[in-house]
Order: sequence, then C-alpha cells, then structure tokens
Amino acid sequence: PFPTTVALLPPIVLCTTFAQREVVKPAQYAYSRFSNPTVTALEEALGTLEDAPPAAAFGTGLSSVATLILATCKAGDHVICSQVIYGGTVRLLQRVLAPLGITASFVDTRTPGPVAAALTPNTKLVILETPGNPTLTLADVPGIARLTRAAGVTLAVDNTFLTAALFRPIDFGADVSIYSTTKHIEGHNAAVGGAIVTRDQALLDQCRFLRKAIGTIQAPFDAWLTLRGLRPLPLRIAQHSRNAQLVAEFLAEHPAVAHVNYPGLPSFPQAALAADLHRSSKGEALHGGVLSLELHGGFEAGKRLREGVRLCALAEHVGSIDTIVTHSASMTHADVPRDQRLAAGSTDGRVRISGGLEDPTDVIADLRQALDAIVTN
Ligand code: PLP
Repeated sequence: PFPTTVALLPPIVLCTTFAQREVVKPAQYAYSRFSNPTVTALEEALGTLEDAPPAAAFGTGLSSVATLILATCKAGDHVICSQVIYGGTVRLLQRVLAPLGITASFVDTRTPGPVAAALTPNTKLVILETPGNPTLTLADVPGIARLTRAAGVTLAVDNTFLTAALFRPIDFGADVSIYSTTKHIEGHNAAVGGAIVTRDQALLDQCRFLRKAIGTIQAPFDAWLTLRGLRPLPLRIAQHSRNAQLVAEFLAEHPAVAHVNYPGLPSFPQAALAADLHRSSKGEALHGGVLSLELHGGFEAGKRLREGVRLCALAEHVGSIDTIVTHSASMTHADVPRDQRLAAGSTDGRVRISGGLEDPTDVIADLRQALDAIVTN
C-alpha cells in the first residue's frame, strides 16, 4: 500500500510544484521536471526488478538512450553499438550526436571480437541491443562485459525486448539496462516512456541531473499507466513468449517464408546463447514476444503480407497485448541508409511480428490466410 493513503495503487500526483517547508533543507519534491511522487513509485519498482536503486524514468525510450550517451560522452568521444539495433538509435547517433562530435561504430556484437577491434582510447560507451531489432540477433553480453570492464568503458544493454522478467543484463556484467517502457513494460499501447536502471549511483545521479537540465522526465499520468502495466509483466511476457513460439513454429513450415528468426527455434543460430541468458524467475526458458521472418519475394511480398492481415494490427510497435506486424524496410528502418539496413540483416522482405495475448490459433489462422494469398497469386 502507498504509505500516506494505504491505497493499493499510488496516487497520480498531477502537480507541477511542491511547497517548500524549510528554506535551508530542500524537500524531496520541488518541481515535477526534477521528480514527482508517481514517477518515483514507478522508478522504485523498475529498480527493484534488477536489485538496483530506483531507476530514472524518461518521457520516451529514446530520451533515455540520449541521456545515457550524454551522461557518458562528450565531444571527441566514441560509442560502439550493436550493428543490429533499433533505427531510432542509429538516427540519434548519426544525425544528432555525430555533428556534435560524438562518433559511433556499428559492429557485430554476437561475439566480443569485433567490439575489441573497434575500441579506441576515446571509447566511453558500448550499447548492445539483444535480441536486436529486427533480426533477433543476440549479443554476447557476458563476453563483452569482461572486455568493457577491463577497458573501463560503460556497457549498456537495451533490454526492451525481453525486460527484466526474462533477462537481467546487470547480473551478466553490464553496467546499465535501458528500456523503452513503451513496449512490454507498459504493454497496453497506452503510454510512451523510457528508463535507465543501474547499480552505479554516480552514473544514475548524472542521468538524473541531465534529465533535469534537458527536461526529459516522464509525465506522472504516463508513469502511473506504466506502473499499472508493469504489475502483471511476468505473466504477460510468459504468454507473449509462448504465443510467439507457436507462431514461429507455424511460420517456419509455410512455403511463403524463407526463414524465421526466433531464439526459441532449434534452427536459431545462437540457440545455445539464448538458453544460457533468457530465463523467467520460475526458471522457464522463454524468449520474448518478438520474432521476424524473411519472405520469398522481397519488398513486394512484405507489403502484401502487411496488407493481407486482418486480425493482426499493422503498426510500428512491439510488446503490446495485440499481435503487431511491421514491414521493417518500409516502416521502422525506412530512415536507415539501405546499405546499412542490409548489413544489419534488415532485408527487403523482412517482417517483424510481435506476438500479442490473443488465442494463438486465431493469430496463426490470420497469418495463414495472408501468406496463402501470397503463394497463390
Ligand atoms: N529501443 C528499442 C529496442 C525500441 O524498439 C525502441 C522503439 O521502438 C526504442 C528503444 C525507442 O523507444 P521509444 O519509442 O519509447 O522512444
């Protein structure tokens, strides 16, 4: 219960400013750009999930990524990033931060070797996304953590796809978990948001300082919605994962599909790493709700699948209660230069599916009719 009211849910404190009782001793809350009680309630929950102090919550996932980069890098510094990564992170690094003098290298992070080769004396931050968007490629977090620790470089993992319910990067040597809480954590298509979770208090303080200086805190109502979504997260993500597994197994057999990427399939090239890293608190090997597939027939086939589905929603989103289909080349990765997109495995016929919470037989029936139409016409 919330301490002051014993309400089972914390109040939504829709208040910009807080009365200061003493002039000399600052109160815990002063102004909602700095902190807010509803935002704090979410931050405490997100921190607890990773045995960390209260997280820092942000207005969007990308503002948490941007804040972390600004907290660790200045002009002249260098960031190493997974090659397979959310297009918005690429855009931020290449089009916003590079002109300000923070450079980035995008490398294959399946093994530590390419990260070791890309390290320079100016490298301050490594950002891994695992599973990567949209190929589901996994990063070797424990191996790369040994490397960054020895080099004194901060290691962050964008853990949006699995969440702390299935993977706790800090337990495997990372310094920071970053989240778009917009996805599985809120989970109901209701609020955008982001979070930084770390056990490094100095880094956390710097992120909070920047959040105040730039003005990127989450709004109280969105924090409340996110906290409400977070409560059943372990149950939801388990069901998202089971649905995605069934959909992946169906797709792997369909003649319109060239191949399916899902860490739960035996054909997944990094199935052993997935089995080592991904686990629910009950010990169940679960791999999240997101999978992707490559269609025979490239861009045109991708567009036809997009247009053919009826139950599945067509959207640029993952991790919600609805099954969502995204054609990467024309949607999420449309801003990424084609060469770079192809190098990252985001090919023209690549379709991403985020398994929702519907009955999986309905989802499979919908995908079957859309795929059958591609094969017959
Ligand atoms: N990280 C990943 C893996 C994402 O998929 C996204 C958004 O799709 C982001 C970060 C950015 O989050 P937001 O849209 O909440 O700013």
